[in-house]
Order: sequence, then structure tokens, then C-alpha cells
Amino acid sequence: MAVKPSTMRTLEALEALESNVRSYSRSFPAVFSRARGSIMLTDDGRKLIDFLSGAGALNYGHNNHEIKAALTRYLASDAVVHGLDMATPAKLEFMETFSSVILRERNLQYRFQFTGPTGANAIEAALKLSRKVTGRQNVISFTRGYHGMSLGAIAASGNRFYRVGSSVSLSGATFMPYDGYFGLAVDTANFVRNVLMDESSGVDYPAAILVETVQGEGGINVAGREWLQSIQDIARSVGALFIVDDIQMGCGRTGEFFSFEFAGLSPDIVVLSKSLSGFGLPLSMLLIKEEFDSWQPGEHTGTFRGNNLALVSATAAIDLYWRTQTFSQGVQRMGKLMRRRLDAVASQHGNSFAVRGRGLALGFDCQMAEIAEITTRKAFEKGLLVERCGPHDQVIKFLPALTIDLETLHEGLQIFEDSLAEALKSTRSR
Ligand SMILES: *Cc1c(COP(=O)(O)O)cnc(C)c1O
Repeated sequence: MAVKPSTMRTLEALEALESNVRSYSRSFPAVFSRARGSIMLTDDGRKLIDFLSGAGALNYGHNNHEIKAALTRYLASDAVVHGLDMATPAKLEFMETFSSVILRERNLQYRFQFTGPTGANAIEAALKLSRKVTGRQNVISFTRGYHGMSLGAIAASGNRFYRVGSSVSLSGATFMPYDGYFGLAVDTANFVRNVLMDESSGVDYPAAILVETVQGEGGINVAGREWLQSIQDIARSVGALFIVDDIQMGCGRTGEFFSFEFAGLSPDIVVLSKSLSGFGLPLSMLLIKEEFDSWQPGEHTGTFRGNNLALVSATAAIDLYWRTQTFSQGVQRMGKLMRRRLDAVASQHGNSFAVRGRGLALGFDCQMAEIAEITTRKAFEKGLLVERCGPHDQVIKFLPALTIDLETLHEGLQIFEDSLAEALKSTRSR
């Protein structure tokens, strides 16, 4: 693929200035200038369909115009943008809207804690609070789990690359096998229960059990309803807090607002971030059951907690999409459609692939990293942004905006199909 000289110059200038740590700019060597909905435009006039959605931070698409209108109005009125965690009408409106539209409808009741802007900071707060409430140190987390890049979050994350990268001893977490880790025949919840009930298993009583209902970074591994219910029961019976990390799978990604609704769970703490602001602005929070809200005032602080601009767009997103069932039903319908098409692709190629996921979080497991790598590279050349996940980056991860139109969805899937076919051809011809 020929890259225009002006684009090449920009990319080279960025490369010279920016740390080696940059990552997405390597997978997608283009200069992105504008974006709207599910389309990103590059400075050399290319149009790309976005199945990456800011790693799940853009569930409502890029520059969602209705959400943007709320932001523009707020900015134009000289209302408070940054006020630490002081009281503002924007914050109250967010909490009231979230409580009535999201929580009350689902028979849930929580207090809100706004943390620093990253998901990782919210995870730190959740772990810290659980340890404070229970007086215990250990946390149970799961194989292939991902919870962020700060040390406490990495300690609870599986990925060896990140763990080694932290360069200190990571402590405080015990890993248990996630649902399906040993195949369908083994119920790993039984294992967790046995280990925690056994007075001589070597595993300390946990302050919390921390789980994703679908592991986004870990390879789109899906936990079943009964497994999740068992894990919640186990947490209750050993006096641990049950924490759902809904940072990537929440805010409608699986078809419901919370990814755990299908299992009827009632987590003690829910962690939300990524798409919470509705606009790609940084906003993270914990939902905490009132009886566990044992913080001292200011005990977990931060400069950018509950940024008002992000709260305004978050309120607008809830107003727009969650007051009726229509949006959620649409996501579920599109998810099924996409699933069917991916299943068809998998069976076309003799079932050496596996398709997993829920709602519009879908993974196409190529089994071989090389095939996934070539496929996503070719897809990028043909006009589709899609990333890889899983322990060997062997899973192609589909996270289209929940607001995507069917035509664009199918166009993106066609690019994926063509790219996969080419990748298979190129690896077979060797
Ligand atoms: C992205 C992510 C995090 C970390 O969020 P950051 O904002 O990147 O710190 C934690 N948990 C899950 C499940 C995530 O997908």
C-alpha cells in the first residue's frame, strides 16, 4: 500500500518525538484527521470503518452529534468544567439520571464514587476499598483477566508481558481458572469453591473476587450465567466483595447496559469507565453498595474525578439511548446478525476457527497468531480498523459502535472476510 509523502513525513515526525511505548499507531500507520460515527478519515483521504471503537470507549460512535450538542451547550454557557469533586448541577444531574434510568429500572441501588479518569484508577479504588472493608489482602482474579496498567491492577491481570513490564514483585492476587479454561467439561467454579473452602489449600481468604463477564483483552472469553452466579455465591459465602469489572463490556456492549444483567447478578462493586462518558472523554466510577461505602472523606482522591464535561456527555448518552428498550434490542439484533455471519465464515473454512462473544463484543479465534496478524493488516489496507486480543494475539476482536448502521456493519464484515481469505491463501502457499 502506497503511503503519501506528506503522511509519511507526519508519521516519521511522530515516531521521532514519541516514546517507543506507542502501540496503536504502529498497527494502524495512518494520520487520522476526522471521525464521525463508525467512520474515520485520514489526512490522505482514506476512509476507514472502525471496528475498534477506541478499545470500547466509543460505544456511541465518534463525535456523536446529539451528545456533542450537549457538550457544546455546556461549554458555551461558561458552566464549571473543572471543579475537583465540588458540587455542580452537572454532577447531580448525572447521578439522578443514572439512578432513575439505569439503576432503578434494574432494581439496583448503589452509591457513586468518581475516581481518577482511568479505568485502572477505578480498579485500584475497588481493590483498596474491598481490602479496607474486609481487613484481608488477597484478591481472587482470573486467568487471562485484564484490569489495567497500575501496579495493583496489573497484579490482578494475567498477561505476562505487562506483569514483567512492571519490574516489581506483584502481590495480593491469586489466579483462578476462568470459565471454560479447561474446556467445557470442567466447572472451574467448583474448583474455586473447593479451594476457598479447604482449610489447607494455601489460598488466603480473599477481600474480593474480581471478574469480567466477558474477557475483552483476554480473548473474548465468555463466562456463562451459572458460572457467574456460582462465583457471586462463593464470594458471599467466604465474606469477600464481588466486583464486576464492566469497564469494557458495560454501557451496552453486550446488549444490556450492564454485562451481568443476563445472569441477574448483584455485584457489591461495579467498575465502569471506557464508554461511560458516551463521547470518548475520560470518566471512571465505582458503583458501591451502601453498606460497603466505608471510605474516610478524601481517602481515595485525585485531581480529575468526575470531570463535568464528561458527566454532561454521560447524561446525554443515557437520555438518548437508555430511556427505552429500543437501543438495547437493536444491539442484540445486530449482535446476532454479526454472530451468524462470523459463524458462517468459520464453518466455511472447515471449523479451524472459533467464534465467541455476546452482543456486539465478538471474537474470531484464528488459533494461529500469524493468521490473525495478516488478516488485520490486510483489513487495515482495505479500509477496516480491527484489533487483536488473547494470550497470543490470535483472536480478532470486533467492537463496532453500537450505533453502527447495517450497511456499514456488513461492509466491514466483507472486508474482514476478504482479508481472512487472503491471509489463508498467503500462509498456505508457503
Ligand atoms: C481498559 C480496561 C481497563 C483499564 O482501563 P484504563 O482506562 O485503560 O486504565 C480495566 N479493565 C478492563 C476490563 C478494561 O477493558
